[in-house]
Amino acid sequence: MKPARIKNVYELAGVVQGVGFRPSIYRLAHESGLSGWVRNRSGTVRLALEGVPDAVESFMESLPDSLPPNCRIDSIHALSSKSVAADEALHEFRILDSRDDANVEVVIPADLAICPDCRREIAEPGGRRYGYAFTTCTNCGPRYTVVTAMPYDRERTTLSRFPLCEECRREYEDPGDRRFHAESTACPACGPSLTLESISGDRVAGDPLREARRALSEGRIVGVRGIGGFLLAADAFNREALHELRERKRRPHKPFAVMAGNMDILRSICDVPDAAEQVLLSPESPILILDVKLEACGDERLPLDLVTPDSDTLGAMLPTSPLHELLFRPTADDPIPPIELLIMTSGNRRGEPICRTNDEARERIGGVADLLLCHNREINLRNDDSLCVIRRGGPQLWRRARGYAPHPVRLVQRLSRCVLAMGAELKNTVAVGYDDRVVLSPHVGDLDTPEAVQGLAQVAADLPRFLDRRPEAIAVDLHPDMQCTRLGAEMADRDGIPLIGVQHHHAHGVACLAENGRDCGLALTLDGTGLGTDGTIWGAELLDIDVSGFKRLATFAGVPLPGGDAAVVHPVRQVVGRWTSAGVDVPPAWLSKLGVTEEEVSVWSQQCRKGVNAPVTHAAGRLFDSFSALFGFAAATATYDGQSAIRLESAARRANGNQTPDLPFATRETENMFCVDWSDAFRMLAEAGPVEKDRNDWALAVHRAVANACLAMIEYAVSLSPARSVALSGGVLMNGILNDLLVPELEHRGLEVLLHRQVPPNDGGIALGQSVIAGI
Ligand SMILES: [Zn+2]
Ligand SMILES: [Zn+2]
Repeated sequence: MKPARIKNVYELAGVVQGVGFRPSIYRLAHESGLSGWVRNRSGTVRLALEGVPDAVESFMESLPDSLPPNCRIDSIHALSSKSVAADEALHEFRILDSRDDANVEVVIPADLAICPDCRREIAEPGGRRYGYAFTTCTNCGPRYTVVTAMPYDRERTTLSRFPLCEECRREYEDPGDRRFHAESTACPACGPSLTLESISGDRVAGDPLREARRALSEGRIVGVRGIGGFLLAADAFNREALHELRERKRRPHKPFAVMAGNMDILRSICDVPDAAEQVLLSPESPILILDVKLEACGDERLPLDLVTPDSDTLGAMLPTSPLHELLFRPTADDPIPPIELLIMTSGNRRGEPICRTNDEARERIGGVADLLLCHNREINLRNDDSLCVIRRGGPQLWRRARGYAPHPVRLVQRLSRCVLAMGAELKNTVAVGYDDRVVLSPHVGDLDTPEAVQGLAQVAADLPRFLDRRPEAIAVDLHPDMQCTRLGAEMADRDGIPLIGVQHHHAHGVACLAENGRDCGLALTLDGTGLGTDGTIWGAELLDIDVSGFKRLATFAGVPLPGGDAAVVHPVRQVVGRWTSAGVDVPPAWLSKLGVTEEEVSVWSQQCRKGVNAPVTHAAGRLFDSFSALFGFAAATATYDGQSAIRLESAARRANGNQTPDLPFATRETENMFCVDWSDAFRMLAEAGPVEKDRNDWALAVHRAVANACLAMIEYAVSLSPARSVALSGGVLMNGILNDLLVPELEHRGLEVLLHRQVPPNDGGIALGQSVIAGI
């Protein structure tokens, strides 16, 4: 016989804090007539339910489907169950204060895009938040960016200087309200406000939003302070504005992201498959890479040559904050009509992180923007927009920041110590790994400038502090000259803790395995650079990985890189390097085609032959550079990382596909290592003379040949290793064609393919692998 009344206690883990979880539970419990309590506890939520057994059971059954959109329950553990005598019964359901406990599992909440309820409110004439740019609730708004210390509550955010007005306080304290304990809540009476400044620092008269909208509609460039930093906004349909923006940012080719006023507008210029729509409408709301509808673009419409000159894809997002939303839509009697599409590009100077404070923006992007739309809700920690792509049916992050970081990546294994991982030089991200998780910081960026290195130092100091963890080891890349390696070494020295050097591609492979819940397997890592354990540059590595380390089973043959980094920027040097190492003299017909002189060729060949300033590279990224230059796609001077390969992929997409030529490669096995040699292809093309026709088909041929070479490497590895899972990692594997060629072939061979989803395939995911390797 069932007892009349029971009390069950559960522990719920997942995304359950800072997302309106407890108020929802409260409402649901009331509706079901249950008593008990709910309390935040060490990053999990503890829930006690008391009532008749059937009611308690059906409550727990329907719970996962009854929660607000941002909550996610990963696990429910029943801790206890007992029958309750009538005189012990609780009479109400209560939300209890968070209890401090010694083993606090701190979860720093991520910033979330504006929710549908808040979007409705700011558009509701007469409502008290009508047109208010800082409207938030427990389901949306800034968190990570405004936190100054943990645990997360208003007193420890940059909003502490805005005491709540009476009405906001009432909402904040009412468990039935959407703003119950919404730590960043505010209203026009008590919260932050906007100002519009000219570049000379003068306040622009009139309503800041309205004047900013007017400026945008007139083709001017406005620096907009968003959730995690400044963005530069301009009307995407205005050629002159875009031209001006490219000039002022000194950014000739790198694609600009766009923000569309709504989904219909986005659909009119891009293909938006269902999987993409889900991601765009999610609380994380990243920039998503979409295919452009070419017929919708052109001189009259979107000037693609200025928005995304190198490819037919577009990075697009929807408004992520009330401020963005209000830039598009007029409120009250604003005469400026709705704006459809804005360029939203990082508000930074080249190589620097995006501007965070109003002062930084005045100093650094004052010359780029005509006006600055500032506000006084301070951003404590910078956070870029995340960047995502749909890969093989699911989202894959390319830049992990707003919305995703610093949510932890869960591991199947437990780390034996707390590790601070310093990441790599490009697309830097740091991480703190401990217990069964790794918490990655948002994207820090390339460490090219003192400002960027300073940004890294702040995050490396703050992240462990926020998590209340003291690192017991610091993991760094093997490359001694990386800024992050140097900083890590200094910190390890200062704190007297071990410094662990981790090989770059090992870290890539382990990152991909770990986020897929594995601790061993094969990993194919294709990227542009990374110091190998033999002193050469690796980057086309087939590694067999287990918890004790890795074996390098296959790679591409090493070739000289005349001038080192200069050959990456001027990829035609690499072609000369390839020919020199293949024993071919540069045929005269090629000289003018490649735009090089005999003297240059002679210098570069000498460098290669003598091994002077010509480091040996195995990297797949460099192979793509070489072919891109050879077929005339690469810019003479690359203006951003990965440009040559992006142009080659873009050309391959335009290939006709049924008459692809064959590019030969040779394979050999030496000392238990399988090696792919590309000399034959370069020799063949040297002799055939410059390619004039069907260049797009040749671009596709490169992709097919590389995919085939990778298959050969993997087949070799499978013949030696019992592993039947292959992780695909590295920046070159962001290439969509390569994925589409490789993945089905691998699956066809009975192998399980593991792709990056939660962390980027590029160096933005390195810190995850470093944490795991140094923490095991
Ligand atoms: Zn909201
Ligand atoms: Zn208020």
